[in-house]
Amino acid sequence: MWPSTYGGKTSRRTGDKRKGLKSLHRLSAYATNARLTLAQRSILEKTNEITAIPELLDHLVETHQLKGALQLGCVFTDGDSGRLFQVCSPSWHKASMWRATVLTLFPEMFPGPLGLSLAGDALSRGVWELEPRQIREHGLGRHRAVDDTPAGGGPGMVMRADVICAAIDAALTPEDARPRLLMSPRGAPLTQRRVRALANGPGAIILCARFEGVDERIISARALEEISIGDYILSGGEIAALALMDACIRLLPGVMGEAASGTEESFEGGLLEYPHYTRPRMFEGLEIPEILLSGDHKKIARWRREQALRLTRERRPDLVGELRGGTGNID
Ligand code: SAH
Repeated sequence: MWPSTYGGKTSRRTGDKRKGLKSLHRLSAYATNARLTLAQRSILEKTNEITAIPELLDHLVETHQLKGALQLGCVFTDGDSGRLFQVCSPSWHKASMWRATVLTLFPEMFPGPLGLSLAGDALSRGVWELEPRQIREHGLGRHRAVDDTPAGGGPGMVMRADVICAAIDAALTPEDARPRLLMSPRGAPLTQRRVRALANGPGAIILCARFEGVDERIISARALEEISIGDYILSGGEIAALALMDACIRLLPGVMGEAASGTEESFEGGLLEYPHYTRPRMFEGLEIPEILLSGDHKKIARWRREQALRLTRERRPDLVGELRGGTGNID
């Protein structure tokens, strides 16, 4: 069984006692629910992770019946718990953590609902990291103003370019490669494909606007990608940012219990998902479809595929069109 915490350290002597040589290095490993982290502490002479880690992995394979070769960065499933682990070193762990920086006038809205359940659990395990930043710290004057009246007149207020760009610049280091997103009803509609790409990347810097939105020049000056979560107007970008982050976080390695549950859902195969049922078998005169109780997995898979197609045709004919256009294959 793979322990949820591999607290014990494993020591290896590469020295030779007969020749009076002490051990050269000691290896250690620990596993959280998300990661197997391999560390090395040198005793006499420093050897590097590159040589030390494969040796430790061999040792782990021997002592914990882990099957197959594990490499730094690879993701594997523990057979007993079904949990996903990622193999990493401490520096790799830090570098590979999914990091979200959120620029907002309401940092107290974060993590909010993302502090609970799957995302909250993953946050406390260090699978992802959240940095809410208060835009107002870069505001102007005694009142720390962040907005001003719109050029050309009209209702509402606009977030100032000088203030917002200062807030963005303060949140970034020159080597920060994370995409910079602006939550905006004018943006490209968020899709599962974009979510997956974001989840596979290093994280995101997310600007949440308020009022009428931001001065247009901010978008080009800081190369922001505008993303919308739907054709309706929210009062601010914070809830949109939470929705976007939630969609990404559940896809990170080690967040969802079952590896399969990320790939069987609506949109993942280009279709809406088939209907689900569970006990009781009879509910208010409504029965579970007979075929789901048949035990015939081939027939069940075919039925589910048919249902997914039927639902998608009825509710989202645009998705079926996309499938035809993409692969020409919907059967
Ligand atoms: N005047 C703007 C709406 C401003 S709403 C317009 O008509 O387009 C204030 C802020 O809330 C926006 O700038 C954006 O950051 C956020 N927001 C509102 N609706 C959103 C949506 N559907 N998707 C993403 N962000 C949204």
